[in-house]
Amino acid sequence: MELRQPVVVVLGHADSGKTSLLDKIRGTAVQAREVGGITQHIGASFFPIDTIKEVTGPLYDRLAKSETPIPGLLVIDTPGHEVFANLRMRGGSAADIAIVVADVNKGFEAQTIESIEILKKRRVPFVVALNKVDRVTGWRPFSRFISEEAKKQSADVQTMLDEKIYTVVGSLSRLGFPSEAFWRVKDFTKEIAIVPVSARTGVGIPELLAVLVGLTQQFMGKRLERHEGAARGLVLEINEEPGLGPSANIILLDGTLKQGDSIIVAKRDSAVQTRVKALLLPKPLDEMRDPRDKFKPVSEVTAAAGLKVTSPDLEGVLAGSPLYVFDKAKGEDELERLRSIVEGEIKNAIVSTETSGVILKCDTIGSLEAIIDLLKKESIPIRTADIGSITRRDIIEASAVRESDRYHGVVLGFNVKVLDDAEREAQDRSVKIFNERIIYNLVRSYVDWVTYQKEHEESILFNEIPPICRFQFMKGFVFRRNDPAVFGAEIQVGKLRQKVQVINVEGRKVGTVHQIQDSGKSMEEATTGMQVAVSLKEPTIGRQINEGDVFYTDINSHNAKQLAERFNHRLNDQEKEVFNLIVALKRKEDPAFGYL
Ligand code: GDP
Repeated sequence: MELRQPVVVVLGHADSGKTSLLDKIRGTAVQAREVGGITQHIGASFFPIDTIKEVTGPLYDRLAKSETPIPGLLVIDTPGHEVFANLRMRGGSAADIAIVVADVNKGFEAQTIESIEILKKRRVPFVVALNKVDRVTGWRPFSRFISEEAKKQSADVQTMLDEKIYTVVGSLSRLGFPSEAFWRVKDFTKEIAIVPVSARTGVGIPELLAVLVGLTQQFMGKRLERHEGAARGLVLEINEEPGLGPSANIILLDGTLKQGDSIIVAKRDSAVQTRVKALLLPKPLDEMRDPRDKFKPVSEVTAAAGLKVTSPDLEGVLAGSPLYVFDKAKGEDELERLRSIVEGEIKNAIVSTETSGVILKCDTIGSLEAIIDLLKKESIPIRTADIGSITRRDIIEASAVRESDRYHGVVLGFNVKVLDDAEREAQDRSVKIFNERIIYNLVRSYVDWVTYQKEHEESILFNEIPPICRFQFMKGFVFRRNDPAVFGAEIQVGKLRQKVQVINVEGRKVGTVHQIQDSGKSMEEATTGMQVAVSLKEPTIGRQINEGDVFYTDINSHNAKQLAERFNHRLNDQEKEVFNLIVALKRKEDPAFGYL
């Protein structure tokens, strides 16, 4: 049985070096030109197996030898979650294997973990490239093979690298994966291989490629079997090519696609059947005389491949749509079967409920699915999730949600346009729109906004409650006996604020704070340890209040309940003590004080 080339994706946290690593892998392969270098596809690069053998040298036999060799690797050119999300297939992924890049000095970061969780969910095996080894303190370059270079480091540096590897082993173990540095892996099906690399020096790239090839050849045979007959793939992107009209960048996953084939793809409301007018591959650089003349037409392409398809009826086709070739010889039933598969996939992705929740608009089926997953993980309810621009209707819907549910009455957009009238409506109705180009940032910025709003809301409510305070009338500091009484006060616990009511140690009301002054300047509030002049409207010094008296701020039953139940974490230990004392004083008068 002949195998096709596996589709490889690169994922990882921002700045871990995904782009640099891809560039370096390409550069390393291009240097092996005598044996074929690389072939540029649309959105991907093909590394022929001979090129990989040239790069991996003697390692190939050790790590990658197989009875049924793959013809090479098809590596997707754009790294990251967004492209991976679009490489979707029912119940899995069109990506056969992934490289998860992590910075050796930073270990696993938020998006590293997120990448692994999504790979796990889609059952995509992966290797970890522990990048930037050249940045390990004291590291010295010797070789292009990490297995040799690591051994030549000083004992300290070797220990440090081992520690960093074990940190990653720990992180992977928490995610449910046993792992090891690749040179200690005994069974590649049971342990994730960690390959230290440097995208700067290129060390470790041979091992990384050898491990990738080894894994796919030995353990993915079935999945990579090439089938005769009708081709199958998926649409990554629809765009307008000058002079060509609408075109689709596709990944072909099985079979052979021919010019003139009838294909079934998805639009927003139904599946459509259209005919392939041209199949295009990028021209090799040395054949490209005019930059406008980028593509080379071919009559057929065999999987796996990245290519461009032109056809009269591609406008409105959804990125992320599955693509099936309809074999006319099989008749109408087959056409119906393919249509229903394609339509089923769109319907599965689109969410529409009557419940409260956010409004989500995305550019592709893949991003829609990925973001729905993330929102579910954060327990964020969704009212509608759809593909397309943000419209005025979306804003009105969000605004309606906001009436009863202020944090969910928002529109989340991923890589989509906000139509002009939607923008205006959003301003009029103060509906918040989040529109991002990185999946992770979209969910993060919404969650951060909610957190901020909630904290803010809590602050406002908390500040409406009188502060807890104990303060003392300082002996020898009588400034005015009455109307209002003015005296020196030391704030012993908490805060004293203008307009709050004050009680004495028996719980009796003595007056309302009129003003607080420090060195003749009026202030809103005084905090623990401050000595200030306080004026109280009602009492007269020598009658209701006296020098040396201790006072507390007064609170009502509702405030007491709020402080006990909702805002207790905002009080420090001393304030809690004073609060309990105030409640005890108040309960002498009213045993139900502070309860419901
Ligand atoms: P991405 O966001 O994951 O695609 O990361 P980039 O490839 O843009 O790299 C982020 C930064 O790290 C850039 O400044 C790179 O030059 C640097 N970088 C990437 N790989 C290496 C490496 O192996 N060694 C060193 N020293 N720097 C690297």
